[in-house]
Amino acid sequence: MPSDKHNVIQFPANDETAAGEAGKEREDKAGAGNPNVARAVVAQGKVQAAAIIGKDIINEAIRLHGLLPLAAAALGRGLMGAVLLGLNLKDQDSLTLRIKGDGPLEGLLAQARPGGQVRGYVGNPGVELPKNAQDKLDVGGAVGHNGFLYVTKDMGLKEPYTGTSALVSGEIAEDLAAYFLHSEQTPSVVSLGVLIDVDGSCLAAGGFLIKALPGADDQTLAEMEHWLEVLPPVSALAMQLGDAVELLQALFPKEELQALTLETWNFSCDCSRQRMEKALISLGEQELKDILEEDGKSQLRCNFCNNTFDFSANDLADLLAEAKKRSRT
Ligand SMILES: [Zn+2]
Repeated sequence: MPSDKHNVIQFPANDETAAGEAGKEREDKAGAGNPNVARAVVAQGKVQAAAIIGKDIINEAIRLHGLLPLAAAALGRGLMGAVLLGLNLKDQDSLTLRIKGDGPLEGLLAQARPGGQVRGYVGNPGVELPKNAQDKLDVGGAVGHNGFLYVTKDMGLKEPYTGTSALVSGEIAEDLAAYFLHSEQTPSVVSLGVLIDVDGSCLAAGGFLIKALPGADDQTLAEMEHWLEVLPPVSALAMQLGDAVELLQALFPKEELQALTLETWNFSCDCSRQRMEKALISLGEQELKDILEEDGKSQLRCNFCNNTFDFSANDLADLLAEAKKRSRT
């Protein structure tokens, strides 16, 4: 069940460039496990390219959220998209990709954080639709053709920046294309593909984000588009190759890859009991009192990873005392 999209997108013109690092090689910057993201500068420093193998990330998402194939394909594309957009995150940053469409998926959210952490969820993990006209999982139909895509960059210090654009097809890569088209002037190409096996697991998944660096000429850009048009779907490539560097090499000859960097990204959530306690305390004295009197307990669930946290009457009484203390100070 392949679901692929190749698209031309615009990318932030002033995005940080790795061109100055051409010639150097760095490795394993983030995360634990085998590297699943590779990026490099190509075309004599005119183009920055990144590739991701998303299978393990998506299988973890399927396991945690109980995603059926259509939701797995949609969230898989979203998670890989968030990683590819979030490759330049610093210590306190995060990048959140949010898609709100009018389809039965009921929205999608994917968030990339430094250290190779990505997490996300969809509104309806059990969404099912007939295959689309290309006999593929109908991600566009699930997301919906009408709605908005939001990209929020939280740099830790100032107010988070959010950019938005209207959905084009709900196929996610196309919608990212439209988002960049509306925000910046640097042409890029993005492709996201997820292949779901008959048993509902992710068989293969891959993605590309290729962006022109300042100084790229029209010929280079035309070549970029051409390469992606003649390539097989990225999910088929990912299944065949299984390695992010090889994925890059399917597009660019090995000798062209400069400043090659490998990273490991995992589906990972940093929710904790402590954070949930803070959330409960922030409800305030009255609300906590109501929960304690009406339910005598509380269970909070993390949207990102489905982990649950139980609070007994005693726990709630402690939190209520804490909330009272805070309201006096
Ligand atoms: Zn969590």
